[in-house]
Amino acid sequence: MATNILIVDDDPEIRNSIQEYLTVFKYVTFTATNAEEAMDLLKIQPVDVIITDILMNGMDGLEMTQRIKEKYDTDIIVITGYARDYSYEDAISKGADDFVFKPIRLEELLLRLKRVIRERELTQERTKMLVQLKELSITDDLTKLYNSRHFYQQLQNEVKRFYRYHRPLALLLIDIDHFKYYNDTYGHLEGDKILFKIGGLISSCLRAMDTAYRYGGEEFTVILPETSCEAALIVAERILRTVQTNFFDENSGMKITVSIGVSEYSDGESMNDFIKRTDKAMYNAKGKGRNCITFLMP
Ligand code: GH3
Ligand code: MG
Ligand code: MG
Repeated sequence: MATNILIVDDDPEIRNSIQEYLTVFKYVTFTATNAEEAMDLLKIQPVDVIITDILMNGMDGLEMTQRIKEKYDTDIIVITGYARDYSYEDAISKGADDFVFKPIRLEELLLRLKRVIRERELTQERTKMLVQLKELSITDDLTKLYNSRHFYQQLQNEVKRFYRYHRPLALLLIDIDHFKYYNDTYGHLEGDKILFKIGGLISSCLRAMDTAYRYGGEEFTVILPETSCEAALIVAERILRTVQTNFFDENSGMKITVSIGVSEYSDGESMNDFIKRTDKAMYNAKGKGRNCITFLMP
């Protein structure tokens, strides 16, 4: 991708000479005659690196650097007169990434620019990798839902929110019925496909703020923020019906069903007790013959 460079200087000779030189090296260049103009341009044009003079009419280059750094992910190289009042420390403390003295040697500017761009690319790669790693650490490999580690973290956050805003909070625990039989009959790999499909069906029944997790084995949980027990029962019903009606297994010609436990968080309850109560509700559904929903009050 082309690198966009913005040159900010009130001296047209300097502006033009930098622009001409960088264009030869295939950089996409833009120019501005002062800080205000540069900041207006940034609102509509993404820029990777800014090369700016310090002494300009209006806002000076250092103040501009500070303001831009607060709002944009743009690297900045500042240029200053040889024995002027600004030091390297001044520029760096405002967030500048490098510093060049006048009279500018274009070869030196190019080297500094290349270094800034290289570091910028490395930082972007690192940030991307960290995001991917974070995603991996909270995702269940098989179903692509969130994993149980993330479930505990999120439920803890939601319980904290409960005390802050006093809004209801509900939890579902969903367990596939007779899944051992399915695995024993059709094999583990076919069983894995069912887990993936059910994960997708559960997600398709949720609102944007609800989150689904693979809790373990063939069990799933759903955290429903801002949701009372009554409203959670409606979501559970939707999941049960969706699995029931959409899940016809081609291998066996049989329908796969789930049992769902529902509960609403109760003031003063520990997170573990909340989970246990939901689990107990799910076991009650199994006891009632499976393919049904049960809720349990505290
Ligand atoms: P119930 O209706 O009482 O829930 O019966 P069940 O057979 O579903 O329950 P049980 O707890 O006896 O067995 C759970 C089965 O889930 C056992 C195991 O073979 C299967 N299972 C757990 N994790 C996985 C997995 O990652 N992949 C596959 N294919 N099967 C799994
Ligand atoms: Mg189970
Ligand atoms: Mg089961």
